[in-house]
Amino acid sequence: MAKHIEERADAATAARERLKTFIAHPPEDARLWGIRTTSGTTGGEPLIVPHHYPSMRGRIFKEEKRMLQCYGSMSSRLSFTHLSHIRDTADELVSLSLDGADLGPGLDRALDEFGADIIIGYPSFVARVCALMSAGARARVVHVRLSGEFIDSGLRHLFEERFANADTTSMYVSAETGRLSTFPCGHLPLNRYHPAPGVTIEIAEPGDDGAGDILVSKDGREELVPFRRYRVGDTGRIVPGSCPCGEAVTFEVLGRSGHDYLKLAGAIVRREEVERVARRLGLREYFLEGSLKMRGNTPAGALELSIVPPEGAGEEAAARLA
Ligand SMILES: [Zn+2]
Repeated sequence: MAKHIEERADAATAARERLKTFIAHPPEDARLWGIRTTSGTTGGEPLIVPHHYPSMRGRIFKEEKRMLQCYGSMSSRLSFTHLSHIRDTADELVSLSLDGADLGPGLDRALDEFGADIIIGYPSFVARVCALMSAGARARVVHVRLSGEFIDSGLRHLFEERFANADTTSMYVSAETGRLSTFPCGHLPLNRYHPAPGVTIEIAEPGDDGAGDILVSKDGREELVPFRRYRVGDTGRIVPGSCPCGEAVTFEVLGRSGHDYLKLAGAIVRREEVERVARRLGLREYFLEGSLKMRGNTPAGALELSIVPPEGAGEEAAARLA
């Protein structure tokens, strides 16, 4: 019998269980706990997930002095601001958090004055912000830390070119599950990761190329209640061989499998909306593929719709022409 897979509907039930467990066992050191919320695409409402910080502490921020945060989500901004306060060095880390509404005239000067040495955020948001940064402001950045979205080759080239003095790394994280990959080991390209301690990655029904849906298991050390073979909604594969850093397991994220939504250039494209439009257009069989394209300096989401012709399509027109 096939082993059970936790689907997105199960995630809402599990999140409520995590919250109940957290309330029943108040933390000893509240400084080391945080609350994450999800965007609401899982389970129809934002989920509240308490989580424990110690494994992240002292790892994500070291000697940086000025951090620019590029997240649309308030929960992520608060989380990283808190993390920056509990780092191991005594030096102050000043943080500037941007909202989508901040991206406009005057921001270039503010970013110049702020002089960030580290930028963290969603890749598409960082790409929009870097279009507004002067060459001088970009040159001061030494770390770019990305998470939360797939990084395609267009974005990768953009970051390499725009942040020439920075090491650009990514981590595999989702709002429901929290951190899934280790801190970057320095040997892996973007979109390739090692599982974090306590995390197991499996691929459901892999094809000939080894690719399939990513299933995540995570012990309860950070979120109290374990995840068991949870289908996160991304496709990926296990990369053969071990890494020069000594890690035995490497996995690669290939993209979003889009069970119920796609995140694209900071927008959410919901499956039910696509289906509604397709019905209005009378489409029966179709494929929709999303990708990020650059329009000059600005990344934009592109949706490509491929239509499969219905049986006998065009015969009526051909008969009329005959
Ligand atoms: Zn490695």
